[in-house]
Amino acid sequence: MTQHWQEQVSLKPYNTFGIDVRARYFTQAHDDEQARQSLAEAAQRGLDVMVIGGGSNLLLTRDVDALVLHMASRGLRVLSDDGQRVVVEAEAGEPWHPFVQWSIEQGLCGLENLSLIPGTVGAAPMQNVGAYGVEVKDVFVGLTALNRDTGELQDFSLDDCAFGYRDSVFKRHPGRWLILRVRFALSRTLLAHLDYGPVRQRLAEQGVVQPSARAISDAICSIRREKLPDPAELGNAGSFFKNPVVPAVLAQRIRDNHPCVVAYPQADGQVKLAAGWLIEQAGWKGYREGDAGVHRLQSLVLVNYGQATGEQLHALARKIQADVLERFGVALEMEPNLY
Ligand code: FAD
Ligand code: NAP
Repeated sequence: MTQHWQEQVSLKPYNTFGIDVRARYFTQAHDDEQARQSLAEAAQRGLDVMVIGGGSNLLLTRDVDALVLHMASRGLRVLSDDGQRVVVEAEAGEPWHPFVQWSIEQGLCGLENLSLIPGTVGAAPMQNVGAYGVEVKDVFVGLTALNRDTGELQDFSLDDCAFGYRDSVFKRHPGRWLILRVRFALSRTLLAHLDYGPVRQRLAEQGVVQPSARAISDAICSIRREKLPDPAELGNAGSFFKNPVVPAVLAQRIRDNHPCVVAYPQADGQVKLAAGWLIEQAGWKGYREGDAGVHRLQSLVLVNYGQATGEQLHALARKIQADVLERFGVALEMEPNLY
């Protein structure tokens, strides 16, 4: 047995749903070499490897018969600074929200709308994390990953990542790359995105006329704290379903029966529907089945009241999907990664 591998480790502290499944083996990577060695040794022993960061986008439905590799690498650095555009690099294991706060403290703008998203820097490109009208792709310049088949380092440009709505080449090919570090181009000048949800209104209530990145971040943190359950108090993985993007004719059919449908026209002519609205209309808000439930304030968030299993949460999700499909003709896609 390799010294730094632990056996039969509970993953409860490593996933924000708080699901108590076990990893057959568990280890941490603090640097590239440890990551590479763990992958090589697992390959030698014929073991699968499951990479995790903050575990905030995972639904674990069974014990993990593999090596769970927890990314714990740290480091933030400025790579270039022309006085206006500043390229920063962060190691995969850096927690996301403190990284955002660090960038604001450096006088850098671009990440403020992505405040208070849990998880790590290394996982952020996986689903092109997004909130309040900004996505990681908007500030992304590149990343370095380990190709898990060849063990070689590989650099990815913006185009290579093929980012989409909560999507990327990494999400479409799970297990192919281990992301080691990510580079972002930030700016010393703020380009404020205030038109999503209640951000502008919150700033106005606070008497902020010319918002700074700090003020926007604070406003978004306060909105999120009011609307979203804190995983430290109530297990959850944020939005459980993606907002579906549907053909305009389907959106119109729904609007004919429900004039108050929450819908946003997209550049390609399709329409994005708020999944939370569909689930709420179908009567699931606040629903509870044992310890698995739908949050009482935010129907897009499934919650674990304590002892729910991943399978119970998954079963609840499937019931919601079937009901929404039957009522509205809309297929909801799960957002968290299922194991
Ligand atoms: P994990 O859950 O650990 O992993 C997610 C996936 O990425 C897994 O498939 C894992 O194998 C893979 N992975 C992790 N690290 C690496 C790596 N270094 N290399 C390769 N693969 C890797 N998401 C949003 O987009 N916007 C939001 O506003 C948002 N709000 C949230 C609010 C709450 C309360 C919660 C609980 C979640 C929220 N999320 C949101 C979802 C989640 O926080 C993000 O998707 C986050 O980026 C996941 O990071 P993680 O480190 O926890 O990833
Ligand atoms: P909200 O403000 O109540 O809005 C509901 C949905 O409508 C959002 O999900 C958002 O879609 C969409 N929307 C709102 N304003 C829009 C606009 N001006 N143009 C286009 N679409 C608009 O949403 P919320 O649930 O409180 O979340 C706020 C933000 O944080 C959203 O961006 C959301 O995605 C993000 N968030 C994500 C997670 C997660 O786990 N993925 C968890 C919590 C919050 P989009 O989702 O496409 O932005």
